Amino acid sequence: RDIEAARNSEELLKKHREATGGKILTRFPPEPNGYLHIGHAKAMRFNFTFAKERGGTTYLRYDDTNPVKENQEFIDNIRNCVDWLGYKPFKVTYASDYFQDLYDLACELIRRGKAYVCHSSKVEIAEQRSKMINSPFRDRSVEENLRLFEQMKQGRFAENECCLRVKIDMTHVNPNMRDFVAYRIRYVPHPHAGSKWCIYPTYDYTHCINDSLENITHSLCTLEFENRRESYYWLLGALDLYKPMVWEYSRLNLTYTVLSKRKLEKLVGEGLVSGWEDPRMPTILGLKRRGYTPTMINNFAAEIGVSRNGNDNITSINVLENYARKELDVTASRTFGVQEPVLLEIVNFDEVKVREIKAPLFPADPSRGEQTYTLSSRVFIDADDFSSEHKKGFFGLTPEQPVCLKYGPVVQLQDIVKSADGKVEKVRVKVLLDFKEKLKGYIHWVSEEHSTDAVVRLYNHMFTIEAVPNDEWEKYINPQSLVMKANAKVWRHVADGAKEFDRYQFERLAFFCVDRDSGKEEFGGKIVFNRIVELKESKEK
Ligand code: ATP
Ligand code: MG
Ligand code: MG
Repeated sequence: RDIEAARNSEELLKKHREATGGKILTRFPPEPNGYLHIGHAKAMRFNFTFAKERGGTTYLRYDDTNPVKENQEFIDNIRNCVDWLGYKPFKVTYASDYFQDLYDLACELIRRGKAYVCHSSKVEIAEQRSKMINSPFRDRSVEENLRLFEQMKQGRFAENECCLRVKIDMTHVNPNMRDFVAYRIRYVPHPHAGSKWCIYPTYDYTHCINDSLENITHSLCTLEFENRRESYYWLLGALDLYKPMVWEYSRLNLTYTVLSKRKLEKLVGEGLVSGWEDPRMPTILGLKRRGYTPTMINNFAAEIGVSRNGNDNITSINVLENYARKELDVTASRTFGVQEPVLLEIVNFDEVKVREIKAPLFPADPSRGEQTYTLSSRVFIDADDFSSEHKKGFFGLTPEQPVCLKYGPVVQLQDIVKSADGKVEKVRVKVLLDFKEKLKGYIHWVSEEHSTDAVVRLYNHMFTIEAVPNDEWEKYINPQSLVMKANAKVWRHVADGAKEFDRYQFERLAFFCVDRDSGKEEFGGKIVFNRIVELKESKEK
């Protein structure tokens, strides 16, 4: 028998080689029951580059076996994200494309005495599997099983009335080998296969057969599937199908966020974020909207690589953010933006001769061009750069301390004009002409006359805790994950003609990206900027 089995597998391998031409074939198999996230970027990077570096190629395969949770919107979105990240699938397939083959193979499995229709309930099946006892329906004849399975397909049973189970070994040490369910009844139309079927194959039954039929050479999956490798090989063996090589790797976890679809769904469902595309979400769409580019994400995925360290390993979100900083540093031109304006009035503006102030777009490389900041008699600076009382270690404008309006003149405080309720209305300052001394503060500013109102959205970590626990994880949602600055000011020459995804560094503040909410009534018709990432790794915990 061993010799026969060896011959058989040799034969299968030969056929497989003929089909692939000896090429490496991998697949990226997302279930279209949600949006792709940064963890999927790792899976894509691994599958696509593993094959490509070896002259092979990769399928995008929708693992669409459970129509209850899947829909066309998810299907379309997944495709868009794969494209956006720059991956080029060799073919796009659907598990559901193989429903007929899968059904025919299930009949063959029954004929081989390796599957049976089981009328036990879900609870009973779970109990049989935990107690390692056989189902009372396990010894039905092949004929009866074929007839019942056919009736399942015809819609003669109610959902959950019965299912098809593989027949392996109910006392096996690996729980997944204890007669897992292969087909269940669902009276739900399928987003890709339409309403042709009312029985749907399970992941365990489908995945290995799909891999085999597509001649996948390396089936790469995350570690939680490790205990399913045995049943994967068992089923292919039971049907005399070619066996791909299965290799598991660790899932990506990131600090201060969650990557489980269930949790992400909850954030969206409970309105804790504005949707799947909220810039705080670790989804590909969220990252894109936040201002991330494909290269930042792919470089991150390349750096973290793959390992078998375990699914509990957690990667610092700083690693991802550092890729954003590194790229933005050379791609995002500099400008000034004022988040919380304090108005300065220059009392001796008439004496100021230099009003057209040149500033480099990229200070590290002046040859990349410059812009003009036009000084006017009224200028906004940030509240953080002003204090009505002098404080030690504070480098901004105070009654005792002049500051330089960066690239422009030095101003000294004259007096502070307050309203009846004690709020600072404006600060009168004097330009110190020919000032030569060394200064501590060089601050950003925007001329009132040349400014535009803006909304600046400061995004922080979604959670307050580094490793978000599985239980009571909602307790750690960061109430400060979005801080809106609704009265910000930016230079008009920047805002005019700015498009979604234009990226800037607001000097001294952070990197920002123009959002599509710009101009919307909800935001007062103002231009809206998302903070992509701060200039430096934040130290706070
Ligand atoms: P979830 O448990 O959140 O539903 P999943 O693994 O079921 O995730 P799929 O869309 O079915 O999600 O996954 C498609 C592929 O991406 C699979 O091969 C899966 O192993 C991989 N993948 C999913 N999440 C991660 C992650 N965090 N890190 C690495 N790979 C992942
Ligand atoms: Mg899942
Ligand atoms: Mg899955």
